Amino acid sequence: MKTMFLMFAVCLIAVLWRDTFDPESVRCARVLVTGASTGIGEQVAYHYAKMGAQVVITARREYALQKVAANCTRLGAQKALYVTGDMSQSSDPERVVRMAVKQLGGLDILVLNHIGSTPFAMWNGDGDHVRELMQLNFLSYVNMASAALPVLEQSAGSMIVVSSLLGKITTPFVGPYAATKFAVNGFFGSMQHELAMQRSNVSLTITTLGLIDTDSAMDKIRGYTNMTAYPASDAALHIIKAGATHQKESFYPGYIYFACLCRDWFPFFRDIIIQNSYTY
Ligand code: NDP
Repeated sequence: MKTMFLMFAVCLIAVLWRDTFDPESVRCARVLVTGASTGIGEQVAYHYAKMGAQVVITARREYALQKVAANCTRLGAQKALYVTGDMSQSSDPERVVRMAVKQLGGLDILVLNHIGSTPFAMWNGDGDHVRELMQLNFLSYVNMASAALPVLEQSAGSMIVVSSLLGKITTPFVGPYAATKFAVNGFFGSMQHELAMQRSNVSLTITTLGLIDTDSAMDKIRGYTNMTAYPASDAALHIIKAGATHQKESFYPGYIYFACLCRDWFPFFRDIIIQNSYTY
C-alpha cells in the first residue's frame, strides 16, 4: 500500500514537473544534436526548429543532413546548419563540437543521441564489434562531453544524453548495444554527482527510452517481438522537455520507469517474462 502511494506520488510529481516546460526557454538557444540525419535525432532537430532555436545537426550522411537542415529552416529555426562527422573516428567527436561552437558562437544545449548499427541477434563471439560499438555509442559521447563542458559552463547550458531501457535492464539479442548503454548510464550518472558536488551551472539529463518506432529499430525487431513501439516525434519532444526542465533522469514512455523500479524485485519471474517476449 505504502509502495503504491509512493508510486502514485512520483507519477504526479513527474506529470506536474513536465508541465512547467516553456518552449520560449529554448527560443534562440544554440543547440547541437548528434545522430540527427534520421530517427529520433531528426525529430529532436525539428522540435527545436519549431521552437525557434539555432540548430547544428551532425551525422555521417551529408545529403540526409542537408535535407534535415532545410526542413529545420522551413519549420522556423533561427539557424540550421550541419557538420558531417563519423563518431567511430577518435578525432571527430571533438572536431564536431569545435565546429558547432564556431558556427553558433557558443553552445547552450548538447544532445548526445547517435548510435552505430548493430545486429539484433545472439552474440556471435565478435569482440571487435563490441569494441567498435563502444567507441561509437559511448566513448564518442565522453569525448564530445569533454569538449563541450567548458563551453556549456560559459552559458550555464545543458547536456542531454539519450539512453535506453536496455541500459537499465538486460534482454536477449542486444549484448553489444546494451553494454554501450550501461556504460553511458554509468559514466554520465557519475558525472551528475560530480557536477552537483562542484555546484556546476551545467545541467545533465539522462533520458531513458523504451521501444521507439524509428525505421532502424522497427527493421531490427521485426519477427522477434511484437512489443508496442512509441512515436519518435513524441520521444523527441520528451527529450527536449526533460533537458529544458533540468530533470536528472526521465523516462519515455512513462511506464518504463516502473519497469526500472521493479527490476530486481522478482528476478526469476522477470527473466521468464523477458525471454518469453521474444521469438527464438
Ligand atoms: P537511428 O538508427 O534511427 O539513427 C542513428 C543516427 O546516428 C543516424 O542519424 C545516423 O546517421 C547516426 N550515426 C550512425 N552511425 C554514425 C557514425 N559512425 N557517426 C556519426 N553518426 C552516426 O537511431 P534511433 O533514432 O532509433 O535512436 C536514437 C537514440 O535513441 C539512440 O541513442 C538510441 O540508443 C536511443 N533509443 C532508441 C530506441 C528505439 O527503439 N529507436 C529505444 C531506446 C533508446 P548517419 O547514418 O547519417 O551517420
